[in-house]
This record gives sequence, C-alpha cells and structure tokens, in this order.
Amino acid sequence: MLGRRENPPPGWISANGVLEPASQVAAFAARGQVVRGRCESKECARKVRIDPNDLCGKGQGLLKMRQIEQLHRCQRLDGCSLIFYADPSTPPLHLEWLTGRANVRIRLRCRGAGCKFARVWVVETMIEGLKKAGKGHGGTEVQALGKLMTQPCPVCRKVNWTADVLWANTETAAWRQSGAETYFSGMEVGSDV
Ligand SMILES: [Zn+2]
Ligand SMILES: [Zn+2]
Repeated sequence: MLGRRENPPPGWISANGVLEPASQVAAFAARGQVVRGRCESKECARKVRIDPNDLCGKGQGLLKMRQIEQLHRCQRLDGCSLIFYADPSTPPLHLEWLTGRANVRIRLRCRGAGCKFARVWVVETMIEGLKKAGKGHGGTEVQALGKLMTQPCPVCRKVNWTADVLWANTETAAWRQSGAETYFSGMEVGSDV
C-alpha cells in the first residue's frame, strides 16, 4: 500500500512537517486559485485580479505571489490600501490525494481554549472511518474534517476540531533509519470517526 509518491500534491509544500500552500505564482496556478485585490481607499476603490496562469505563461511562475502583489499597488500620494485575497480562499485538499504514503498523517487538533490535545490518523483509516460513519469518502477535503468530528475532546470535553496534514520529510537520515514508527511515536492514534 505504501508507494513512492513522496512529493506533496502540486502547489503544496511541507514546512516543518506540516503541509501548507506554497507561496509561488505557479503554486497558486496548481491549486486553482486566483488572487483578487480591492483598494479600501474611498477615492480609489480600484480592483485587481491576478491570474497565476497568465503569469506562468510569461515565465513568472517561480516568483512569490507577494512580490506580484507589490507590483499592483496603487500609485497614490496618500498610499495604497489594496487588500489581497486568494479565490477560492481555501484551496481543496482531498484525502485521496494523500493516500499510499508512510510519511503522512491526518492530524485533528482540539481548539478548546488552552487545550493542546491532538490525534493522528493514517489517511486510509480516516477514509474508512468516514465511510463507515456515512460522513465522507476519499473525495472529502481535509479542511472539512474538523466539522465532521463530533466526539468531544478527551481532555477539555469541547467539540471544536481542526484538521491539518503532517508530512514528514523522508530525505532526513533519521527518517531513513527509523521511519514512521519513530517519527509518529508518542502521538495518539485515531481509529473511529
Ligand atoms: Zn487604491
Ligand atoms: Zn481539548
């Protein structure tokens, strides 16, 4: 079951062991996000739409989206009040994109005040659990998981979960030596959803 697909999905990177959206223009294109801007200054109200596919076509895919945003700032004496936002704001990350990898876990974290409880799932176990509970399947988005978890936190009793993806770097000597068992040891493992 555990193959060699060790690169994160297109447009995503592992930063300190957690999957997050990459910041380059090409990454926005890969995730299907455009960036929109709207100037909050009353006299201006300028609108901007940045299409990452256009920029990739011009050879600018490796620039950071932040750099591109700077180039669009309003040339006004009273300054620029452009606010940028990605559209869609939350790029989809489907569970089935993450299967078949020994170095990946879904993490559910409790957001109760001051509570640090977390639990990790093997992706396949999460998908099976969702199916069994009639709550989801391989196409379910990671970002939707938090709301699907209805069990209370064993520490603070709140039901307030958020999900992210742990993605261990398999290039390290530590991983090569001991792999998943050591890397994910000490983390509470989830079974039922
Ligand atoms: Zn403006
Ligand atoms: Zn808690």
